[in-house]
Amino acid sequence: MEKTITVLPGDGIGPEVTEAAVKVLQTIAKRFNHTFNLHYELIGGAAIDDCENPLPEETIKQCSQSDAILLGAVGGPKWDQNPSHLRPEKGLLAIRKHFGLYANIRPVKAIPALLDSSPLKKEVAENVDLVIVRELTGGLYFSEPREKSHDHALDTLAYSRTEIERIVDTAFQIARSRRGKLASVDKANVLDTSKLWREIVEEKRQNYPDVELEHMLVDSTAMKMITQPSAFDVIVTENMFGDILSDEASVITGSLGMLPSASTREDGFGLYEPVHGSAPDIAGQNKANPAATILSAAMMLREAFQMETEAAAVEEAVFNVLNDGNFTGDLQVEGKRVLSTTEWTAKVLEELD
Ligand code: ATP
Ligand code: MG
Repeated sequence: MEKTITVLPGDGIGPEVTEAAVKVLQTIAKRFNHTFNLHYELIGGAAIDDCENPLPEETIKQCSQSDAILLGAVGGPKWDQNPSHLRPEKGLLAIRKHFGLYANIRPVKAIPALLDSSPLKKEVAENVDLVIVRELTGGLYFSEPREKSHDHALDTLAYSRTEIERIVDTAFQIARSRRGKLASVDKANVLDTSKLWREIVEEKRQNYPDVELEHMLVDSTAMKMITQPSAFDVIVTENMFGDILSDEASVITGSLGMLPSASTREDGFGLYEPVHGSAPDIAGQNKANPAATILSAAMMLREAFQMETEAAAVEEAVFNVLNDGNFTGDLQVEGKRVLSTTEWTAKVLEELD
């Protein structure tokens, strides 16, 4: 197959980790006889430095001619004092909004070789295999009106039926392709948006009789995520609850540098990026863990290109390299062998070859 991919390295460790993922994609292309056309564009701080715009027209144009987007990370101290329209994060919000990428998908899976670095007891963390499906373009972070004065502030939490229906459908479909369990998370005892959310989930469940559905309140979900995380399969929730729960879930496996994510829409087009940020403290030192970005590329192969075998090959290579005792500096594992970004990536490429 022939596919076009826009690569947005971004800032901080972004260029180092995307380069690793690109090498993996090139190796996959060779081994499975695909052609991946790669185009590099600017976003975030790198774009602000170049043309004073965190999401240049040129970047949008190239992305819209692509089958998928691979992103590193944006932001860093260099731009922290910039006025709000010249902030790197603006580029990320704008690209999600521009392409209508309403579904943020974050798988969290325990990796046996890394269990010692989890803050949870081994028995609690070891069987975790869940996916958080977070609504990404509506809710409290986007609804109008908003205002702030010296002694008053207002934010609005609004959701339309259409916005809820499409994210709920996405989640039911993911649940169906996995263990068939869906937890819909809301605050329906207090919020009207949550009451509508629950009604729509109840309507939608008729179409997915094979999926076991449970409604949960966000507060008790936050507790259960720590006490019994392996009980979850797929979790679907609105924007802010999903923001908080997905950060909570990301620490369970003890390794921020391992977690991939995708921001997508119905047709699978989307932005594939690591959960971690630009890690300015280690940028440019060839120390970053590229696994999250490599696993995001695997998600791209699976979700955007329907290349299941290729995706599984990448994941297996990553896990084999870890199981053989090869780690990057961020992973706290006793008796580990610490490799640089490029050395660790080379091991993965060897596995793939
Ligand atoms: P952002 O605001 O962009 O999310 P952040 O400061 O919240 O940034 P990260 O940039 O993800 O979070 O970094 C948090 C810590 O984790 C930093 O100390 C960073 O060095 C470390 N870290 C994050 N990602 C990686 C990685 N891929 N490899 C090694 N260390 C990492
Ligand atoms: Mg952060």
